[in-house]
Amino acid sequence: MDDSFTFPIGMTGTARALVVSSTFGLFTPAEFIDLSPTETDPALMNEVKRARVCPIYCVHVSLPGMSLLIDASADVISPGAHDAPPGVSQPPGLISRLREHAIMPEGVTHVVITHGHGDHVSGLTIDQGGRCVPQFPNARHYFGEAEWNSPRFQEVLSDPTHLISRTLGTVAKAGKLTLVAGDLDLGAGVSILAAPGETPGHQVVSITSGGETLFCLGDLYHFEFEFEHPHVFAKWKAPEQITASRAAIVKRIFADNATLVVTHIPGRGRLVLENSTTCWQAT
Ligand SMILES: [Zn+2]
Repeated sequence: MDDSFTFPIGMTGTARALVVSSTFGLFTPAEFIDLSPTETDPALMNEVKRARVCPIYCVHVSLPGMSLLIDASADVISPGAHDAPPGVSQPPGLISRLREHAIMPEGVTHVVITHGHGDHVSGLTIDQGGRCVPQFPNARHYFGEAEWNSPRFQEVLSDPTHLISRTLGTVAKAGKLTLVAGDLDLGAGVSILAAPGETPGHQVVSITSGGETLFCLGDLYHFEFEFEHPHVFAKWKAPEQITASRAAIVKRIFADNATLVVTHIPGRGRLVLENSTTCWQAT
């Protein structure tokens, strides 16, 4: 499995996406998903029990006047760890891959954080002589206000040793964080869309250029089979919110015939209708 890949958005040649996985893990959906006791679909039951290699993707998009990053992971699963995929070598990571493509952290102008889970924020800061400083010092960072204001989040922000405090807290203290309520148009064809459920402030990003649209879905879905079964999701998600968010975003994806990148689903894909059921199709 490739840890990084790049593709143009639209035919005009002005927008290019670079997708980079910070690491690979071996995960079995059943660790995160409780199927209904009345579930009888054998294909779904098999999929949930099947271990698979999952990435942690960050997406960089180069646009005229904008260098956009969606999520920043520095997570590395060490070879030999219980969730390290046997025989899969671990990649060099986000910053190395960005530099290989001549994308310097100082040149990133916008960082959208889909939500405040460790695997999506761990690369937002670096240690400089024992002090955390922003990894992308010239970027404005965008994070969901509903999550920031939640009591659990405020609690971890007040603990200086907590990862959230060292990453998002540091970015906020540096005056580089914008809290987003609802949807936000960033210009250049880029929109942040509220998609709560994974967390109260979870958000996704759409990028339209040259007649094509890319959606970066974060953790709106974790596994391919969830597109076909939108009521199946990780046990920490808020059921009503995630179901409503999925329905609203899927409608937009079909309207735009969009390409999709999902943080923990390998490669990229699109949605197709098979016997009126929505399905993920790798592209
Ligand atoms: Zn995640």
